[in-house]
Amino acid sequence: MGLHIPIAPYIIIFTLKYALTACSEFTKCSTSSEELPKIVGRLLQADSRATHLRRCITGSPIEVQNIADQVFTDLPDPERIPALSQLVEILLLAKDPASNAPLLSARYHLFLRSLEGAYVSYWPRKQVFLDRKAGVGDSAIFEVALCRECGQHYLVGPKEFKGGKLGEAMRDPGQDGFGATFLRPLENEEDASDADESNTDGHEQVFHLCIQCGEVGRSKLKCGHANTLRVLKESSPKDEDRADQMAQCGACGYNAAGRDPVREVVHGTDGPHAVIATTLYQSIPEGRKKILAFADGRQEAAFFAWYLEDSYKDILNRNLLFKVVQRLAPHTSEGMSLRDMVTSLRDLFRQSKIFPPAMSDLDLRHEAWRRVYREFLTDEARIGRRFQCGEG
Ligand SMILES: [Zn+2]
Ligand SMILES: [Zn+2]
Repeated sequence: MGLHIPIAPYIIIFTLKYALTACSEFTKCSTSSEELPKIVGRLLQADSRATHLRRCITGSPIEVQNIADQVFTDLPDPERIPALSQLVEILLLAKDPASNAPLLSARYHLFLRSLEGAYVSYWPRKQVFLDRKAGVGDSAIFEVALCRECGQHYLVGPKEFKGGKLGEAMRDPGQDGFGATFLRPLENEEDASDADESNTDGHEQVFHLCIQCGEVGRSKLKCGHANTLRVLKESSPKDEDRADQMAQCGACGYNAAGRDPVREVVHGTDGPHAVIATTLYQSIPEGRKKILAFADGRQEAAFFAWYLEDSYKDILNRNLLFKVVQRLAPHTSEGMSLRDMVTSLRDLFRQSKIFPPAMSDLDLRHEAWRRVYREFLTDEARIGRRFQCGEG
């Protein structure tokens, strides 16, 4: 079972197991209010919604939207899931007056699927989709790829595309027609004049794309639709093994040293998993922070543990540097030196207690220098403003 994150927030599987663990909020209560969970428990045992909820989740796992629709029929759609969530929380805190156990023990499971591409449509209005099939009506939908350096977007079509309906690219290297064509949308005058200048090889590479039906042609389109967009076909690398890549970004000239400068919005499993695990980890209360990850194979499991830790450290590092820049920026109208950053980073290390208190000032400085250099020398993608780097 898998769901796109933006469409369905989560699925809950409830296990109706009367656990003996009492909820911490209530155990902290004073003696006089200790009976409160039982009083609420008695009320909820007679409540028809609570009973309905507990009954319909006893047998098997069920999607949260499904339960919410059954239990809160009288509420408008958008209010049903929040109401259900509140009811579950109350049931978790309330106790059975006889057994002193919570009325419900719920387990939340999130099922996520990593991205398999991003798509856009231009007509009747601009929209972004994470599923090719999610388009509206008959309007054409195009896969996009992004430059790793400048973020320029490209529309992706099949190999050696010369016109006709813009379809999907073949991604399987074992199949005939493996490869892709990248079309850069010329959405403003500046793009168009760039394209004219770069177009000195004598080959006309500017096409018209019908944003209604996806028809592409050099001259007037046969489909007869009025809404078109000019696109520039970018050249492909000569190497057949790289038939699904671009030679260099037409907007910024980046070529990634021959390693796929422009890529589709497709991520492996480790990246998205690490982001989600990190986000969830940060939301868990102190003292209960724990992550248990499962994988199909031992190799994958071993890799993920390392990957998560490594990527977490990188994010933490960038976050600290970002804070340093934010802190210093108002006081340095002429920019800041690496030395300024290091000093401020060392202070931040101390304040945030990132290293053991016994660590010396010199060691902290060394660590700060190492991290600043690492950031400036990183091979990670950096989209956004460039830093001008100079020490002195
Ligand atoms: Zn670029
Ligand atoms: Zn058309």
